[in-house]
Amino acid sequence: MADIQVPIASWSHLLPTRTRLVPYNRAMTAALDQLAGPVIFRGAGRSFGDCAYVSNGTTITSGELHGILDFDRSAGVIECASGTSLLALHLAVSGSGWAVPVYGGTRWATVGGAIGNDIHGKNHARRGSFGNHVLGLTLLTVDGSLVTASPDSHPDLFAATVGGIGLTGLITSARLRLVPAVSDTVRVRAVPFTRTAGLGRLLEQTDCGYQFGWLRHPCQQACGLHYRAEHVAVDRPRDRDPRRRGALRVNLATPVVLGSLDRLRHLAHRRLDRTMHVIDLNYWGDRFEFRSNLFGRRGFHEYQFTVAAEVFDEAVRTLGGMLAGAGLHSYFTVAKRLGGQRPPGLLSFPREGCTLSTQIPDGPGVLGVLRSFTEIVIDLGGRVYLAKDSCVTKNQLERMYPEIDRWRGIVERYDPKGLIQSDLARRLDLKPW
Ligand SMILES: Cc1cc2nc3c(=O)[nH]c(=O)nc-3n(C[C@H](O)[C@H](O)[C@H](O)COP(=O)(O)OP(=O)(O)OC[C@H]3O[C@@H](n4cnc5c(N)ncnc54)[C@H](O)[C@@H]3O)c2cc1C
Repeated sequence: MADIQVPIASWSHLLPTRTRLVPYNRAMTAALDQLAGPVIFRGAGRSFGDCAYVSNGTTITSGELHGILDFDRSAGVIECASGTSLLALHLAVSGSGWAVPVYGGTRWATVGGAIGNDIHGKNHARRGSFGNHVLGLTLLTVDGSLVTASPDSHPDLFAATVGGIGLTGLITSARLRLVPAVSDTVRVRAVPFTRTAGLGRLLEQTDCGYQFGWLRHPCQQACGLHYRAEHVAVDRPRDRDPRRRGALRVNLATPVVLGSLDRLRHLAHRRLDRTMHVIDLNYWGDRFEFRSNLFGRRGFHEYQFTVAAEVFDEAVRTLGGMLAGAGLHSYFTVAKRLGGQRPPGLLSFPREGCTLSTQIPDGPGVLGVLRSFTEIVIDLGGRVYLAKDSCVTKNQLERMYPEIDRWRGIVERYDPKGLIQSDLARRLDLKPW
């Protein structure tokens, strides 16, 4: 295999580096440890952090792993190759009476990536995370074995792989339980709220199919929109899929430009009450893929944390105050409710409460503020989402994810030489053996 290292970076343009990018092909079922150097797996590369590539090593992309392998329409169970996108999954089941249980926030994410980060969507309170619907998965481990793991067979490997950020082996396929479909159309309403005081309660007390908060001015007196959506029995076609992000990166991440985009959205949506396709609701963010280019070459930190609903507003105010105190601004800030379902993975992010994600242009002082705020998140019993992380320290990770030692014990058995590594795994010393 040619050793050509190509440039790669996180979705937020941070941490640029070089890796050998290799598409998966069937010949690779030979032992992975014949590959020289560290290796990691990559789906669509939609993670904002550094979990889906390894510097000076081999990053294996989904390659041939695409498509639906089996669909049992009477049982609502589908099996697909791990590189299948969530959009392709939706299209395969649409009209069958079944629906994808968890959409996440981007249509381009793959099933392998959705399992690797155990992603959650705007309906977590009702449906839990992606891993809650995985009946089983096939994993290519470093010694070249194909292992089928599920909650009943190799349950330890299953729990280490769901949310295990690609560090146990290559997921080649997965079997998923679908949910009965009401329709592909949702009625969406947005209600303005004027202060963050109460957003946590609002999210907690609202019981609907999908919901999320959009915050303006999280750095100052936060206000925004609370979106609620429910399926309705109407047919509505989905909008055209947006074009993927272009290469042009311009540095427009100024408070005036990004603040105006936020203000325009607020004005356009403050009386929103309309029906839309469930894809357009869940993948709203895909229409604005260009926005990550607005941060120019320096990129941005996407930071997402979760804490209990009762302390959520206080945590948001504290983060806003800390950013403002350091002269920093944050944009595209979204809040969601997380339900109390059993986390399927040892490193799964979702825990019952509320979660906030926000984007902060890179610059002096950002890492310091985010690390200090992470201490507060830890004191409040919360955690930071590794799919988006660029800042937490090893010590902070170990305090946020108490199952880390159990996870390490399982993963060491399947990867005793620590061959599978990502930049995230190295940065946080996830495999210290
Ligand atoms: C616009 C946007 C909105 C988003 N909204 C949400 C949201 O609402 N909720 C949420 O949870 N996340 C959200 N995300 C994050 C995104 O859903 C996750 O990062 C997801 O994991 C990306 O999938 P991917 O296929 O691109 O995986 P990648 O980013 O390529 O990889 C993610 C992880 O999975 C591992 N992996 C990928 N494929 C395999 C495989 N076949 N075998 C083993 N390991 C594998 C990788 O090693 C890596 O650790 C959003 C991202 C974007 C860009």
